[in-house]
Amino acid sequence: MSGLIPQHFVENLLDRIDLAELIGSRITLKKAGANYKACCPFHDEKTPSFNVRPDKGFYHCFGCGAHGDAIAFLQEYENLSFTEAVESLAAHLGLDVPYDESAKASMRKSQSLTGALEQAKDFYRQCLKQHPSASLARDYLQHRGVDAETAERFAVGYAPPEGDALVRHVDKDTLEALISVKAVTDRYERPRDLFRNRLMFPIRNSRGRTVAFGGRTLGDDKAKYINSPE
Ligand code: ZN
Repeated sequence: MSGLIPQHFVENLLDRIDLAELIGSRITLKKAGANYKACCPFHDEKTPSFNVRPDKGFYHCFGCGAHGDAIAFLQEYENLSFTEAVESLAAHLGLDVPYDESAKASMRKSQSLTGALEQAKDFYRQCLKQHPSASLARDYLQHRGVDAETAERFAVGYAPPEGDALVRHVDKDTLEALISVKAVTDRYERPRDLFRNRLMFPIRNSRGRTVAFGGRTLGDDKAKYINSPE
């Protein structure tokens, strides 16, 4: 990932950021000579073994071994990806991240994939509520003790039986993205929904974005569960 952002920009950020200020705005630091001490935010402790060395640009915990620079701290503390941590630091310093062209293209691609999966998720949710054949799915959930509120919280949905319901619902770009993650198959003459007459469970990443689907059949398909393969 770090190859997507020029290394000199990353180094420039790390040179300019005040590590004590960055960390000190998130946890309480106590000055100890040229350094700072704190109770470690990454493990449970009562006596401070977390050290910040602004002159060297790193932190180190003698308790749990947590160690790194400003970017690593943001990644760990705020659960960010490398790129997001760089974005955050750059914004703090009022700088724009100079992505190279291939990075821009790959970000656009991943945004459009996530966007397509989110659209599919919303479509399936809507179908669970409104599709004429969804009563079987709702009965199944009720039978398994899943109430409407829980279904909503986990974004459970319903894939209609037609075989092209999702295909017809989305625009051309979204369709292409869904084909590339194989939630829609193009092995036949026309694109077809991978999931038909299934209860749909979005599989989410640690940041809550839909990255794939699992679908449980409501009919007598041989495959009780299938996942979108990509
Ligand atoms: Zn620690």
